Amino acid sequence: MIIKGYAAMNAGEELSPFEYEPVELGPLDAEVEIEYCGLCHTDIHLIDNDMDNSEYPFIPGHEIVGKVSAAGELVEGLKPGQRVAVGWQRSSCMVCEWCLRGRENSCPDQEATCVGHHGGFADKIRTDARFVFPLPDRLDPACSGPLLCGGITVFTPLRERVRSIDRVGIIGIGGLGHFGVQFASSFGCEVTAFSTSPEKQEEVMRMGATTFVHSADDDLMEKTENTQDLIISTVNADLDWEPYIKALRPEGTLCFVGVVHGRVELPYFELLAGHKSVTGSTIGDRSTIAEMLEFAARHEITAESETMPMERVNEAIEKLRSGNARYRIVLKNE
Ligand code: NAP
Repeated sequence: MIIKGYAAMNAGEELSPFEYEPVELGPLDAEVEIEYCGLCHTDIHLIDNDMDNSEYPFIPGHEIVGKVSAAGELVEGLKPGQRVAVGWQRSSCMVCEWCLRGRENSCPDQEATCVGHHGGFADKIRTDARFVFPLPDRLDPACSGPLLCGGITVFTPLRERVRSIDRVGIIGIGGLGHFGVQFASSFGCEVTAFSTSPEKQEEVMRMGATTFVHSADDDLMEKTENTQDLIISTVNADLDWEPYIKALRPEGTLCFVGVVHGRVELPYFELLAGHKSVTGSTIGDRSTIAEMLEFAARHEITAESETMPMERVNEAIEKLRSGNARYRIVLKNE
């Protein structure tokens, strides 16, 4: 069998049509016929080799929705034709301390869907069935793939850290950020969106934000001091973090989920005196993904997305690179 997709042949290049023969379907693997795949900013980091872990050629894409087309002999709970979703994580060792605690996304031996493997900008994928999730019927398949990476990445820190009376700030209202606003609002929190794009205000308020702060305006930023219990940064850039640490209430937390290269500078005394914390988080474990999908179905949360045919993948990448995606682009196999 041959899988057809679009691959980066070298760092930073446009994707080109590419075919490969997949490995034989293992007893715990599933094969998924891909209908949709979201475009996450991490795909761009991988195309550009920003994290120094890309191997070329490779097919990006890790926000997959499709139908099971084959399953290994030991796979349980998945049937041919069933609609499923696949996210960032492809597998974990299942035997380490973290996996035994159900924290597979902390497993030191985890593998990613499109690092060292070909991802979802293709017609099919073969992957570990234990990381293939049945998609609830109530979720629209055309805009649910992004829940599997963008969605779970902001859901996890909210699920772990907030109470419904808390005040939550989201920095950067792109793919991850717009899920952050929707989830935090559905958790019952008061939500402040910190954005460099004032033109997003109306849409972001409609998504559930209580307050919209144009983060380039120092006076507005000063007014947010001592207002937030949790701030999640989804931006893929190093910022001046001091105003955000100041925006935290005592015992508040700044959680990084956006990928920033190198080091960040933090105001030491603000952290110490305010008993404030800084942490990071990636995706979520399998049980939290299943929970997030159920929560999203119940609260009607999907990506605000634009659907484009898979063959226009380079146009989609350019649109995301230039900051013009609203708020996720989903590629569709026609
Ligand atoms: P995205 O759609 O491009 O959104 C990023 C948003 O950040 C932009 O819409 C913009 O929002 C803001 N932003 C961008 N550049 C900025 C700058 N220089 N200064 C201030 N704000 C800026 O990207 P995404 O797909 O949401 O991904 C965001 C980051 O999360 C990426 O680095 C990605 O790799 C990472 N990520 C991490 C995980 C994880 O597990 N931790 C999972 C998925 C993705 P405004 O216009 O509102 O300012």
